[in-house]
Amino acid sequence: MKNRLAVAIDGPSGAGKSTIAKLLAQELGFLYVDTGALYRAIGYEVIKRGGKPDDAEFVTGLLPELNVELKCGSGAQFVFVNGCDVSDLIRSPEVSMAASAVSAMPEVRRFLFNLQRDTALKNDVIMDGRDIGTVVLPDADIKIFLTASVEDRARRRFAELIQKGVETSYTDVLDDMKKRDYNDSHRKTAPLKAAHDAIKVDTTGNTLEQSVNILKELILNFISNGKKK
Ligand code: C5P
Repeated sequence: MKNRLAVAIDGPSGAGKSTIAKLLAQELGFLYVDTGALYRAIGYEVIKRGGKPDDAEFVTGLLPELNVELKCGSGAQFVFVNGCDVSDLIRSPEVSMAASAVSAMPEVRRFLFNLQRDTALKNDVIMDGRDIGTVVLPDADIKIFLTASVEDRARRRFAELIQKGVETSYTDVLDDMKKRDYNDSHRKTAPLKAAHDAIKVDTTGNTLEQSVNILKELILNFISNGKKK
């Protein structure tokens, strides 16, 4: 692991993790890994097969039938399940809630652990999620915990969904976000929390460019202070 550079970015939904991580990965030449997409892929498969995302027996019974693969670059990332590209099918509000439900199951987290860890062993990564700095890459070189007020996060997520043509309201997005925050931070296995050695960055009121610059400086400082790359 230690010949590779790993940047872990954790935080609640809508804090800007994936947008910022993607831009930084492109600019700095890292592989970008969006781990939320993996939980979304499982949530999507459960719904597609008629299961309920909070039905642990159904979800865990399904896991042996799923071959989840990631194809990443410094920009776009694609998720395949049993050879099918599901990347465009996993962004709906319904799948967001399903991902949050399945992600509370220890079996699901174990199922996705090796894929995430192996990707970081083989590449310089910027990996975003909820438990990257605490569980998946506890030895990451730089850990960032990115957050923002729930209203700010809901506004950003609402704008993104509208742009994608998803029919929804700000109030629904805000309610979903509060529910997901609660689920993600109260689950028993790998709850959302900052690693003790994470740098906390609050992006409330920032433009995207301001947030990208803050993180870029942290990474470049780390690199120029004698580590790798
Ligand atoms: O990041 P994104 O919003 O796409 O993640 C979808 C859901 O997947 C989150 O609400 C969270 O429940 C779960 N997740 C997780 N651990 C990660 C990444 C995502 O539990 N590392």
